Amino acid sequence: MANLNTESVKQRTYDAIVIGSGISGGWAAKELTEKGLKTLLLERGRDVKHLKDYPTTNMYPYEFEHRLEIPQDIKQANPVISRCYAFREDAMHFFVKDTEQPYVQEKPFDWIRGYQVGGKSLLWARQTQRWSDFDFEGPARDGFAVDWPIRYKDIAPWYSYVEKFAGISGNNDGLPQLPDGEFLPAYPLNSVEDHFKQQLKSKFNDRHVISARCAHLSKPQPVHLEQGRAQCQNRTLCQRGCPFGGYFSSNASTIPWAQRTGNLTLRPYSVVESILYDDKAGKASGVRIIDANSKEAVEFYADIIFVNASALNTNQILLNSVSGRFPNGLGNDSGVLGKYVAFHNYRARVTAEYEGLLEYTTDGRNPAAGGYVPRFRNLYKQETDFLRGYAAGFSAKRYFEEDRSGFGADLKSRLLNPKLGIWRVGSHMMGETIPKEESRVSLDKSKKDDWGVPLLNISMAYDDNDEKMIADYHEQFTDMFTKAGFTNIKTTDSKQAPGLDIHEMGGVRMGHDPQTSMLNKHNQLHACKNVFVTDGSCMTSTSTQNPSLTYMALTARAVDFAVNEMKKGNL
Ligand SMILES: Cc1cc2nc3c(=O)[nH]c(=O)nc-3n(C[C@H](O)[C@H](O)[C@H](O)COP(=O)(O)OP(=O)(O)OC[C@H]3O[C@@H](n4cnc5c(N)ncnc54)[C@H](O)[C@@H]3O)c2cc1C
Ligand code: SF4
Repeated sequence: MANLNTESVKQRTYDAIVIGSGISGGWAAKELTEKGLKTLLLERGRDVKHLKDYPTTNMYPYEFEHRLEIPQDIKQANPVISRCYAFREDAMHFFVKDTEQPYVQEKPFDWIRGYQVGGKSLLWARQTQRWSDFDFEGPARDGFAVDWPIRYKDIAPWYSYVEKFAGISGNNDGLPQLPDGEFLPAYPLNSVEDHFKQQLKSKFNDRHVISARCAHLSKPQPVHLEQGRAQCQNRTLCQRGCPFGGYFSSNASTIPWAQRTGNLTLRPYSVVESILYDDKAGKASGVRIIDANSKEAVEFYADIIFVNASALNTNQILLNSVSGRFPNGLGNDSGVLGKYVAFHNYRARVTAEYEGLLEYTTDGRNPAAGGYVPRFRNLYKQETDFLRGYAAGFSAKRYFEEDRSGFGADLKSRLLNPKLGIWRVGSHMMGETIPKEESRVSLDKSKKDDWGVPLLNISMAYDDNDEKMIADYHEQFTDMFTKAGFTNIKTTDSKQAPGLDIHEMGGVRMGHDPQTSMLNKHNQLHACKNVFVTDGSCMTSTSTQNPSLTYMALTARAVDFAVNEMKKGNL
């Protein structure tokens, strides 16, 4: 019997365990297995195999029962997820439904999740910009969070490393707030997007429009072909899963690459309940999962653990990992675990029309979604009454205007030959929010999920800084649009709850000081050296840029450090 138990423990022992198979977990699995570590990748949701499990990818709109709309009964049953722009009939199977995975909203928070192999990498809009020293130095300069323990130079080579493998389209734009990278050819701006670019250039010396940088294979390189991926066909049906592997997802890229090494064991339907801490050894020994189907608890063991369950789920796992040494959650000597959570502010839009350039129209689809206006506020000095700044998306399009009046042959003819309208332009704000102690997540004291894990209680809200930033964005873009000759300018504020921007970050933040942060500059828990956290929970502040490229770079960097430390016998 004793022998049998030993055998069983051996079978459940790996060199490394990765929790979560989304954007960051996929990278952890790739890097660990490539470095020769037998790695267990645990995923709470079902398996989604590249190509095989994209059921809608080749369907025409008329083949969908509801022509891509979400039926009323599903909307009513899922008020949170229905607010997400990407929750449509063709991709709804990749979203977590409200009723399936409850959480507690101490304050309103729209938590958008994808629980499956690949996580949200199947759903993301693939916007990928590097962060700059304006972001990494920001907290030290403005004093709105603790100092980041790294600077741009620490992560720059790792940005290059992940960009080359993932495939990022873009231009070298030479902007200090948006460092250039290793780019495949950019998707071009259309004529009105380019017009706006030229207008900003001539009328403002600090404002720019660039082609959005995006994780699409505009021109695949050998390393992409080796992954089995092909050139993006510009279908813009990405959220169904791409049969060409035209955009970066864990499913198309990092996970199959890790599998190829022969070192990966992928275990779907494994809800990680907690990380096990060995008091005697003074380090983590493994994880306890609840099998999602059988509800059986199983323990797995490893020397290194990477936590990549996505920002708020990682907080939940660490808070639930209590032991004699860590009664308040793994590594939580300081009490900061779950606090200083922040997010992005996508509430505001400015739209307008343009009556010029009518000799041009749009043709085809741009998977990069048009232009991007990098942050221009409070860069070199504090010039407004709010901290930090915002970036913005910008795009222009001509639509057909259908005249549905009348009946008979005239109506038919009008419907068959619609007239092109004037250009419509739009911009949406992408603002940075301030990580505050009172913005936090915690474990609910009474409610548990189907697997016995306490529900996550989420408490965060916009503040005065966000309101001032929205007002400034409205004012500045109205001015910029006016100067570009746009008309019928309208400003809107969706007043949506936090969360819908899907860039929640923090709670397990990096920092120099174990008294005020959870992780050191290598994403290693200050107080439990063989546990690394490299998803959005590690972020000290949020920047205005999209975050996922930074999670990838931090993950590759942390794995490199972890494996070196392991070889030196330090873990
Ligand atoms: C519609 C949409 C548009 C977006 N657009 C962009 C964009 O343009 N640019 C950008 O940078 N980002 C974008 N994002 C955000 C981006 O998808 C996330 O930042 C990114 O996926 C986070 O990576 P992650 O590894 O932290 O988490 P995820 O990719 O969410 O992966 C986490 C994985 O962990 C699993 N997991 C969770 N809890 C457990 C547990 N207890 N046990 C085991 N497994 C667990 C989950 O099932 C999931 O598979 C977008 C997201 C959405 C939904
Ligand atoms: S736009 Fe490119 S990545 Fe998206 S579905 Fe089409 S081919 Fe795939």
